[in-house]
Amino acid sequence: SSQMPASTSDALTILQDVFGYDAFRHHQAAIVDHVSSGGDALVLMPTGGGKSLCYQIPAMLREGTAIVVSPLIALMQDQVDALSQNGVRAACLNSAMGFEHSAATEAALRRGELDLLYMAPERLLLDRTLDLLDNCQIALFAIDEAHCVSQWGHDFRPEYIQLSVLHQRYPDVPRVALTATADGPTRREIIRRLELDRARIFESSFDRPNIRYHIGENTGNGRQQLLRFLRSEHPGDAGIVYCLSRKRVDDIAAWLQQQGLKALPYHAGLSKEERSANQQRFLREDGIIIVATIAFGMGIDKPDVRFVAHLNLPKSIEAYYQETGRAGRDGLAANAWMLYGLQDVITLRQMQAGSQAGEDHKRIERHKLDAMLGLCELTDCRRQALLRYFDEDAPEPCGNCDNCLQPPKTWDASVAAQKALSCVYRTGQRFGVNYLIDVLLGKDNERIRQFKHDTLSTYGIGSEHNANAWRGVFRQLIARGVLEVDVEGHGSLHLTEAARPILRGEETVNLRVQPKPSRQRRDRDSA
Ligand code: ADP
Ligand code: ZN
Repeated sequence: SSQMPASTSDALTILQDVFGYDAFRHHQAAIVDHVSSGGDALVLMPTGGGKSLCYQIPAMLREGTAIVVSPLIALMQDQVDALSQNGVRAACLNSAMGFEHSAATEAALRRGELDLLYMAPERLLLDRTLDLLDNCQIALFAIDEAHCVSQWGHDFRPEYIQLSVLHQRYPDVPRVALTATADGPTRREIIRRLELDRARIFESSFDRPNIRYHIGENTGNGRQQLLRFLRSEHPGDAGIVYCLSRKRVDDIAAWLQQQGLKALPYHAGLSKEERSANQQRFLREDGIIIVATIAFGMGIDKPDVRFVAHLNLPKSIEAYYQETGRAGRDGLAANAWMLYGLQDVITLRQMQAGSQAGEDHKRIERHKLDAMLGLCELTDCRRQALLRYFDEDAPEPCGNCDNCLQPPKTWDASVAAQKALSCVYRTGQRFGVNYLIDVLLGKDNERIRQFKHDTLSTYGIGSEHNANAWRGVFRQLIARGVLEVDVEGHGSLHLTEAARPILRGEETVNLRVQPKPSRQRRDRDSA
């Protein structure tokens, strides 16, 4: 690091000469300036916004070594390689490297030969690492993916909580915490747990204008819908397809390969070698589609990901935003395309209800899922809603989401909702969607006769709609919290308080028109 006092023009020189960029983006210049002069900072910037430079440049401007805490050992080496290529003196310490390599790195640190040193929190928190740091000049601490400190967040890492020790042990060393997750509660938790009360908060707009959002309904054959999307909009493009389970990842990847696409699976059940080989191909080759569980992608820096497709519903808007945010980091047009259906809603509700988490935690998760479902069922601009969720105002509809481009048709479903709800009620709030639809349609089957539901007033009162339309009604009623799915796993539905005004006819229910189901064979596991 230079011996000169930091100044804005030094920062710009480094940006241009070392990193080869013309100008700072977002709040980069102000952040670099603030941290270089010794201030703490909390940096909230969307994925791809350029958070790394916010600590890399101060690291070079300040005397001593910047310690970068990052949860992802796999990505540290990439970062270090990229920096080294630019002539920056960077290294990492991790459990994957041998003793000699570690010892050499530690020696370089002691001699003050490093501008940046990356490590995972558990490594940093070892007594011997802290002892080592006591004897070095530390330029700053950068805490990347700072939302990992949040217990309610989707990437909670317990070791992150202990990082408050940095403030206590090195009160004079500036700290910069960075994250792309910026909802209010998470932000407050970062500040509290990392003792960043005096940090200046730098918040960039979370809008990703080049990403086009699309949230569609799974009409019964998700993989065909995916294939149509890939063939029509992304021939030869690189992208990520997210699925909920490992099995589904394997199935979809194999099936896309059969269709002649360059698709590779990625999930925690594959061997380490296979995972890393697939990830490398995705990063280095053109036009690879990676089919993955959410285990894939955190910190992946591939600028030309042209689409992110979700075949299942993420469990929160934060997760959705982060996962879709991996598309279009180069600023060029990209698609965030998602399908969801009734089964998603039921599965996620059940997973949540059945989880071992405490009541508080469950309540928060529930709210998050509700917000996500709200985004799905929305009939106006998705981007405005997304930004509103992050406390940001977008005055105009964006013109670059499915709802803006093709306003969805809605219908007055008040009567249908009443029929559906009274059917739930009259059958004793003990049955699942398929059975309820059979009753509404007046199907004649053993089970219905056994329960004498063919004698109910709601038997056959729904014949003006087909089963598909009814599925849409139930899905939307569940999504809106008018109906709840039972915990015990049978998928039976019961009414909530919100059902009352609808049943009394005091509330109009407008629902999206259900698209026609695909003509292909129903593919049950994608429903
Ligand atoms: P984040 O960590 O916020 O997701 P990165 O720090 O990985 O983002 O930066 C994303 C990409 O943008 C990288 O390829 C980076 O080199 C590039 N980048 C960052 N700042 C600038 C800038 N001022 N001008 C041009 N490109 C930049
Ligand atoms: Zn829009």
